[in-house]
Amino acid sequence: MSLFKELGLSGAMLSNLQQLGFHTPTAIQSLALPDTLAGRDVIAMAQTGSGKTAAFGIPLVERLKPRLFAPQGLVLCPTRELADQVTRSLRELARAQANIKVLTLCGGVPIGPQIGSLSHGAHLIAGTPGRIDDHLRKGTLNLDHCSTVVLDEADRMLDMGFQEVVESILEHLPARHQTLLFSATWPAGIRTLSKRFQKEPVDIRAEAEEAGPDIEEHFYEIQPGQELAALKGLLSRYQPESCIVFCGTRKQCDEIAESLNEEGFAALALHGDLEQRDRDSVLVRFANRSCPVLVATDVAARGLDIRALELVINAEPARDPEVHTHRVGRTGRAGEKGRAVTLCTPARAHKINRLEQARAMKAEWGDTASLLAEQLRPAAPAFRTLCIAGGRKDKVRAGDILGALTGDAGIPGTAVGKIDLADHQAFVAVSTEYADKALAQLAHGKIKGRRMPVRWA
Ligand code: AMP
Repeated sequence: MSLFKELGLSGAMLSNLQQLGFHTPTAIQSLALPDTLAGRDVIAMAQTGSGKTAAFGIPLVERLKPRLFAPQGLVLCPTRELADQVTRSLRELARAQANIKVLTLCGGVPIGPQIGSLSHGAHLIAGTPGRIDDHLRKGTLNLDHCSTVVLDEADRMLDMGFQEVVESILEHLPARHQTLLFSATWPAGIRTLSKRFQKEPVDIRAEAEEAGPDIEEHFYEIQPGQELAALKGLLSRYQPESCIVFCGTRKQCDEIAESLNEEGFAALALHGDLEQRDRDSVLVRFANRSCPVLVATDVAARGLDIRALELVINAEPARDPEVHTHRVGRTGRAGEKGRAVTLCTPARAHKINRLEQARAMKAEWGDTASLLAEQLRPAAPAFRTLCIAGGRKDKVRAGDILGALTGDAGIPGTAVGKIDLADHQAFVAVSTEYADKALAQLAHGKIKGRRMPVRWA
């Protein structure tokens, strides 16, 4: 294992990494940084949670010319959540240097403000292919000075049908540039993309990834119609604070979430048909522990950056082994033990056979009868989320909200959980015990001297 010090990083970067708590490089960072820093093309197999963002983020920041107000690095991401996450990480990595602008360019929001931000100059850009392509076509984004392009979760971008758009974006880069490709899996499409757009790429696989994270995995055979009972059994048995239940369809998502709620198991559905606003609210409430169960489709769950999932449940086996691996890989991250459970009806047993072959493993089947006989104990969420009609653009800061709650109201600081700021609204998690008091306080009091409508999210 190498050290950050041995990589020839600037003093400012080294002390910033220290402050961020990055004391030693992760496996992917040790393997990739010497090449990414040297400007070589790299194709790396890496999952979310491996530290891959810094593996490309550190060289992006180290090589920036701060006085050149033109995009010098571009990160393409499959989803808005991932692009937001990458932007946050790049800002953290760049904070030792003054005046570095990192911009997110994603669809689903008006393009006008993005054009405004671009005209003020940005150094680094993270975004989704569709919107980046829109800007290139409109001429509002110019990549003439972009010396590095990163394809993050490249396999997901291909899955989502972004191949053509990605290729057309890559055509806009100057002749001499570095292409970094990060992907959790390496299907044929990734190889083709690499052959076409990379020059003598260095192949990198982090050993830790190959060893696989520490995940305890079980399979249960159920009969059609027993799925809900089995889910309730699992939730009662393991009492997870955070669990994702994967479903095949939007309809199944809604039905399962609704039935779980009816039986007292708090659950939220996440699928592609949600409006962006609702999607944000669902993600915030799941991440801030106001709801322990997220029922999601694969597409909707892509790029979600939610750590410390204790449990992943497949309500039915995934379409193919790769999707299964991707789902299950969401638990057991960052050295923590994870648990994954797959429910399977006899009609779908062949999918488990395929999985066993693809992964050269033997499925361990659990005892369904005991699962169905489990005493039902729905876990009460630790927090409830309040939504305040004022956000970042209204100059509201997390400290203002915390102050309004803990000041006169006498709510202890420890009862206030995560505070998420959006442009024009804010979400605050309050421990259930104090939630009503918090609502009353915010409804009658002021934040920054102003009255702001507040409601349950
Ligand atoms: P990523 O895979 O890039 O999403 O990173 C996963 C998490 O690990 C992020 O929260 C990073 O801030 C954190 N991280 C990345 N590199 C390091 C490191 N060298 N030491 C400690 N934490 C890290």
